[in-house]
Amino acid sequence: MQLWTRRKFFVNSLAGSALAGAGQLLGKTPGIAGSEEGTIFRAPANTAAGGVRPVIISSANGLHALDKGMDILKAGGDTLDAAVAAVTVVEDDPNDDSVGYGGLPNEEGVVELDASVMHGPTRRAGSVASVQKIKNVARLAKTVMERTNHVMIVGDGARRFAVAEGFEEQNLLTEHSRKIWLAWKAKTSFNWRPGIDSPEWKDYMTELFDGDAEKIAYAEEKIAHPPTGTINCLAVNAKGEVSGTTTTSGLSWKIPGRVGDSPIIGAGLYVDGDVGGAGSTGKGEENIKIAGGHTIVEMMRKGIKPTDACLEALGRVARNYNGDKKKLGTFHLFFYAVNKDGEYGGASLWKNTYDRPKPAQFAVHDGTEARLELCKPFFDEIGGDE
Ligand code: ASP
Repeated sequence: MQLWTRRKFFVNSLAGSALAGAGQLLGKTPGIAGSEEGTIFRAPANTAAGGVRPVIISSANGLHALDKGMDILKAGGDTLDAAVAAVTVVEDDPNDDSVGYGGLPNEEGVVELDASVMHGPTRRAGSVASVQKIKNVARLAKTVMERTNHVMIVGDGARRFAVAEGFEEQNLLTEHSRKIWLAWKAKTSFNWRPGIDSPEWKDYMTELFDGDAEKIAYAEEKIAHPPTGTINCLAVNAKGEVSGTTTTSGLSWKIPGRVGDSPIIGAGLYVDGDVGGAGSTGKGEENIKIAGGHTIVEMMRKGIKPTDACLEALGRVARNYNGDKKKLGTFHLFFYAVNKDGEYGGASLWKNTYDRPKPAQFAVHDGTEARLELCKPFFDEIGGDE
């Protein structure tokens, strides 16, 4: 089989003919397993394990939660139980304003959560979107998968389903998140600031954050660059079974009801037990348009390594803007993937994270300890979310 090199990837994706590249990859490039046959799907030929099993990976914000998942995998537990247990740690954390409890709210100050799960061994999926008042939406998506005849439940129906299944309702807005939302309101609407006739008139940010410069700077950053916050987690056990989950509070200050890629099976998450799994964080709208999770798994099915498959998906996003870095610089996107051999990878559109100038990373636990590894950047520039 012809080797899939990084150089070839770039030729296909952008530099040569970006538009022709995808076509070549998906059917016409000689030497890629299954490509000549077009429709015949089969497991990658190179099943010689280059990876380690069990292994669990996640977006960088899951670093401190991977121990929990690995303990389950080591004890011979189910891969989806492991992934959901890990992300639940982050959903429960009030200090993490990206997912679950304490997530940054929509434009009306209400936290709305989305999540999905896929279970490789039984080839099942579940998802929920725009859920209010329920903190553990990854577990809720798993409950949809296990206890209904549906795959996706949204909005108030999802909340009521959660209550029926014994989930506790609570206000998910913490003081921290509420104040940042109020600051956003004040910055974007003249009506949400005290008028100059106020006897105590002073700078609204100073007043809101009791003059704490660090908190003001943090809020300013979240307002200038509305964060997307998500955790994607993918687990492979010793037997080579694969599952995954993606959970998020979505794009901060979104229009109520906006749904990103996280609960979309095939975009924010995709698992095929014969191949592996992939997931995403970052601007969901861009991922939905290329069905990133599914795209990556299909690349891996053809023998492409996880990191290169993630880069190819980013290539398609770049192609959607004809490689225009100015437009692409208005957002960020990350992909993560594992194959059933335990090989894994992560790639980012830009070299940095949102919190410039940190390099983009993802978290891995392969049985020894959880650590961060660098994402392979699609563009070498710092860029992103300018
Ligand atoms: N992808 C998520 C969304 O668009 C957000 C994120 O990953 O930060 O809803």
